[in-house]
Amino acid sequence: MRVLGIETTCDETAAAVVGLAEDGRGLVLSNEVLSQIAEHAAYGGVVPEIAARAHVEVADRLVARALAKAGTDLDGIDAIAAAAGPGLIGGVIVGLTTAKALALVAGKPLVAVNHLEAHALTARLTDGIAFPYLLLLVSGGHTQLLAVRGVGDYVRLGATIDDAIGEAFDKVAKLLGLAYPGGPEVERLARSGDPERFALPRPLLGRQTPDFSLSGLKTAVRLEAERIAPLSEQDVADLCASFQTAVVDVVVDRTRVALRAFQAIAPRPSALVVAGGVAANGAVRRGLQRLATESGLRLVAPPLDLCGDNGAMIAWAGLERFRLGLMDDLDAPARARWPLVAAPAPVEAGGA
Ligand code: ATP
Ligand code: MG
Ligand code: FE
Repeated sequence: MRVLGIETTCDETAAAVVGLAEDGRGLVLSNEVLSQIAEHAAYGGVVPEIAARAHVEVADRLVARALAKAGTDLDGIDAIAAAAGPGLIGGVIVGLTTAKALALVAGKPLVAVNHLEAHALTARLTDGIAFPYLLLLVSGGHTQLLAVRGVGDYVRLGATIDDAIGEAFDKVAKLLGLAYPGGPEVERLARSGDPERFALPRPLLGRQTPDFSLSGLKTAVRLEAERIAPLSEQDVADLCASFQTAVVDVVVDRTRVALRAFQAIAPRPSALVVAGGVAANGAVRRGLQRLATESGLRLVAPPLDLCGDNGAMIAWAGLERFRLGLMDDLDAPARARWPLVAAPAPVEAGGA
């Protein structure tokens, strides 16, 4: 079984082919990605119109390359998957429409994949783990703790009440004058910084529900930066290290609380899983490894090229859905917003 996956929800155009190994794991047969970082760098962030146009310019070539590198053509593909959201709508439409056109021409089923579900299922591609597992999803737009019970079956244990962690990294980088995208830059500079120089807050630490809040921490970094301006290189490194350490403390504490909340869902997770762009951060991974060891659990963190946005995760989520018979019609909508967990039904005022 082989599935083609297309990803265009943000600033990476990506296409990949994955297959299925005998042990149930995925086989990444090709994984092509073109980042638009250079196009957006001058603006300090992703410009939606520029992103959509850049996707159009490269999508077909990238698909052809992904097929060629996998040693196949469309005839050798069983289903075609694309991220149908959530994300920047212009880009989502480009990738989804490309997939629909290919599906129509080749007479293959279409799978409209939720980008967050693709991050969530990556650990099954790389490590073949069983359900249920505890997932910390930490990306540019999302920060959530989820019990993953099956494909399409997610229970939200906690989430950020303001900024996503990746967004906080990007904003801190920007206010310190670092290059976009900020997460990797903050991590690089933090290596030569003093994590204890600035006493930054650890928002919601110790709270009994596994939620996050990042905006106060980001503001505290800004106030410290303004207080000691102008900033030397060492000041910037110390601020990065202090910020990153505060984030790790919060992540470990919130995830520990989520592990306790998980007991109400299922007796024991098969693993602690981290996914999304921020999962590439070494300090975050080390903190979670400590927690996993202390809890007698295995930590599964994707290899670095599968943490950020990629086509392989879309192809894999497509494969997981396809083999369950979860295909989509050619009128599947592109969605700017598409929560992984449906919001609970509103409680009617005065209702029983
Ligand atoms: P979403 O998946 O929520 O729709 P997205 O697709 O834009 O958002 P990803 O591509 O999964 O997000 O992740 C990008 C984010 O990860 C950015 O905020 C980036 O700064 C952050 N990031 C990447 N590498 C690192 C790192 N080494 N340390 C911290 N953050 C990082
Ligand atoms: Mg990205
Ligand atoms: Fe993402």
